[in-house]
Amino acid sequence: MLQCRAGEALQPSLRDVPLDYVSTRGEAPILNFEEVLLAGLARDGGLYVPERWPRFDAGQIASFAGRPFAEAAVEVIHPFVGTTVGREALSEMAREAYASFGHAAVTPLVQIDTNQFVLELFHGPTLAFKDVAMQLLARLMDHVLQKRASRATIIGATSGDTGGAAIEAFRGSANVDVFIFFPEGRVSDVQRRMMTTPGEANVHAVAVRGTFDDCQALVKAMFNHHAFRDRVQLSGVNSINWARIVAQITYYFAAAAALGAPHRRISFSVPTGNFGDIFAGYAAKKMGLPIERLVIASNENDILPRTLETGAYETCGVVATTSPSMDIQVSSNFERYLYEASNRDSVSVRRQMDSLKQSGRFELDGKVVAAMREDFAAASARESDVAGIVRKLLSDAQYLVEPHTACGVHASNQNQAGSDPAVPRVVLATAHPAKFPDAMEAITGQRPGLPERLKSLMSEEERFPVLDNEQSVIETYIENNARVVADSNA
Ligand SMILES: *Cc1c(COP(=O)(O)O)cnc(C)c1O
Repeated sequence: MLQCRAGEALQPSLRDVPLDYVSTRGEAPILNFEEVLLAGLARDGGLYVPERWPRFDAGQIASFAGRPFAEAAVEVIHPFVGTTVGREALSEMAREAYASFGHAAVTPLVQIDTNQFVLELFHGPTLAFKDVAMQLLARLMDHVLQKRASRATIIGATSGDTGGAAIEAFRGSANVDVFIFFPEGRVSDVQRRMMTTPGEANVHAVAVRGTFDDCQALVKAMFNHHAFRDRVQLSGVNSINWARIVAQITYYFAAAAALGAPHRRISFSVPTGNFGDIFAGYAAKKMGLPIERLVIASNENDILPRTLETGAYETCGVVATTSPSMDIQVSSNFERYLYEASNRDSVSVRRQMDSLKQSGRFELDGKVVAAMREDFAAASARESDVAGIVRKLLSDAQYLVEPHTACGVHASNQNQAGSDPAVPRVVLATAHPAKFPDAMEAITGQRPGLPERLKSLMSEEERFPVLDNEQSVIETYIENNARVVADSNA
């Protein structure tokens, strides 16, 4: 296997050698990109990471400026994909994926204050940043399955954003069926309609008589039911899928180059839940992007800011906030960072994850705490901070942000002191305000309207079954509706 220190510039001859992927827990087979794409979680319970980081030199980074987003994205993604998907095919998929966005720039930058910018990641079909990765992931999966002449069935639980993005991305897919489980009556009207109005026969939104935790437990149980798992060829698209992280590295490069990288350093503040989006920023830095600061923005669920401060990762109860996608106890992708920061010490990662499972906490090694304080800053926003930020931006810049993004602006502002004023501060805007009309109305007194292209959403016909929170009922429903089962019965 190739030995190459993380961050070291690649020899030109190594550029063409396909990257392999290793598990953070060190006990799963080494896979190539295609296999990682379909596997999701590693068999040892770990997460896949590349065995080395591809690196861009200053000239390559500068060349991203002024290019269409889809083109820059292909440059960033191609080294991770290697020969498993040809460059032509990848370009075609990227063009198609980002053509579904409602803004020609795909991920435009908007200035909100002196040297402070918002990176709008919400112009995709479901108005959240998850579309950026999911639109490409769906095309990659379909392509790879086509090549292998096989099918897959994707299942997922959603509390709102992920389900809609997955259904929207996979609707009409030739080789993938999607089943998304949401808690009946507990997602917003807009979120539910985004899942239940697509009419294609391969996408299924299913209401479950239960909570989000029940839906998540069902999905986990189905993955652990090996006979069922093999019969329907289960696959996952949650944020532990490596391909999603790769697709998110793209906008860090595109935004930084637009603001003057590599000749200027850039800081990013990232509304964080599962640590996927901010890990993509960390990856960009490893690949040579001159990032000054990566700020972890949390809401009142502040496990990551506390970890940075105390050196102990300690779960406690989740509180419900106006930024539900960040109401999280365990940030799954943090495991990828632990692995990197410990110099790829999978034994220590395994020990920490066992401890988390048994006692809900673990201690970081001293060296890892030091590295984490070097790599990240962090701040958490209370609900009153969120409301204050929304109102202030509306009056000072006539710019409307929704609560997740407001947490990002808050953290960016908290970390301004002591930072170089010449360094642009970019806040990732992870959702469109129209996705959270109730929260926005409570803060501003006005309900933001849906963008024109989504106006018909509220009148289109919905289609979804309501099923009992029972594994056998859910599995039967999947078996009756998944094409992979029909194939094998034929
Ligand atoms: C998913 C999501 C996040 C959190 O992203 P992670 O990659 O899980 O950290 C933040 N904001 C919104 C609107 C989201 O949908």
